[in-house]
Amino acid sequence: MTQRLDTLLINALIHQEGQGPVPGKIGIADGKIALIGSHDQDMPPATEVIDCEGLWVLPGVIDPHVHFGFGNPETDFETESRNAALGGTTTVISFHRSADIRDSFDAARERAERQSCIDFAFHFGVTSRLHVETLSEISHRFGVNSYKLYMMYKGAAGLSKGFTEIDDGLLWGALLAAREIPGAILGVHCENVEVIPWLREPLRAAGRDDLAAWNEQSPDFLEAENVHRVCYFAGKTETAVNIVHLSSREALDEVRRHRRDGRRSPIYVETCPHYLFLDCNSPAGTYAKVNPPVRTADDIDAMWEGVCDGAITTIGSDHVPRKRATKDKDIWAASNGFPGTGMILPILLHEGYHKRQVPIDTLMRVASNTTARIYGLRGKGAITVGNDADLVIVDPDLEKTVDPGIMESHADYSPYEGMTFRGWPVRTLVRGRTVARDGAIEPSVKERPSGRYLRRL
Ligand SMILES: [Zn+2]
Repeated sequence: MTQRLDTLLINALIHQEGQGPVPGKIGIADGKIALIGSHDQDMPPATEVIDCEGLWVLPGVIDPHVHFGFGNPETDFETESRNAALGGTTTVISFHRSADIRDSFDAARERAERQSCIDFAFHFGVTSRLHVETLSEISHRFGVNSYKLYMMYKGAAGLSKGFTEIDDGLLWGALLAAREIPGAILGVHCENVEVIPWLREPLRAAGRDDLAAWNEQSPDFLEAENVHRVCYFAGKTETAVNIVHLSSREALDEVRRHRRDGRRSPIYVETCPHYLFLDCNSPAGTYAKVNPPVRTADDIDAMWEGVCDGAITTIGSDHVPRKRATKDKDIWAASNGFPGTGMILPILLHEGYHKRQVPIDTLMRVASNTTARIYGLRGKGAITVGNDADLVIVDPDLEKTVDPGIMESHADYSPYEGMTFRGWPVRTLVRGRTVARDGAIEPSVKERPSGRYLRRL
């Protein structure tokens, strides 16, 4: 039995996986959950006592899809990890992409270790034959076993980003290479980019300049067609795949169809907070321009059905922290993506819990529990004795209006700005350390951030 606690949470409603809310206390020692007890249980003395009267304690959100580095590569892990923590995110998995990962990874990891106030891991971007050939080496050396391949960057679309080797052959090669790596998951961006120009050009020529046109130039069936190809090939190679940022009913139906063969390799599905909340008629306009596009109200319903029935595995934000100036253009010229990591929990609570009566247990399954499990994040993703004390204390009825001015991100805008959400974190703890409190990052954390790199292999 622990003799002394660093922190004791009392009067909390604790959400443990599969149990619903249970009133009680949580004792933290050495960054880990040391004890969980009922209200009347005696606990060892603690240096700090946090009274959680009227509040919930949830496992910290794990955001498996952030693009830290797309804003300011020099400082993104500082600003964006703060933005994440303000929203109750305690672990992120960001993307590392370079021509030769063997030469670039250590520096990226070391910079993130200096800057991040939350824990973090990486996926590798697979964009060339060299990446496929060196996949085993870089995976074992750097402790990474998840990857992303961008069907979006085939052909001409890839050329504009400097990629010349992305095609179905590279997908096949990556599936074969990933299969040999323990616990590996190949994530794939699914949009048929070869067909997009045939739909885009007439819309442009007609003078369209609205968010709905962005959906029409890459409609749901172009996503579903790529989803089919990935699931079909992955079934042949027996590789676990992840359809990242899945956005439409049509594409989710395609996954369900492939899963009917119960013996096949796993197909995971990630959706994003924006596909659960924003539709293509949103007043956010170009601020909500993203690939794949935000869709229709029916697609939003389909994403919630998938969260509730388990078809959707995880929620990732696809956070891209660029400046407003890159968005203040017409729909064709505006940059893709937007910030979102700090908004996962508020959107799940507001739209999921309050509006659609989705149980917290269901929300945390996709926002934390399963994410930790499939990505091999040991000690994360659940409130249980022995796990890291990554906790978010939530006021379920707190209402706040999104103001990008106080969100810490390099991005100076949000597609949600001016919108009011009900249900916000009031405190975020990473391995027992309070990182964010009442909408602000702790000054001591700004001075001395202590996020850790999570090796997964
Ligand atoms: Zn993508």
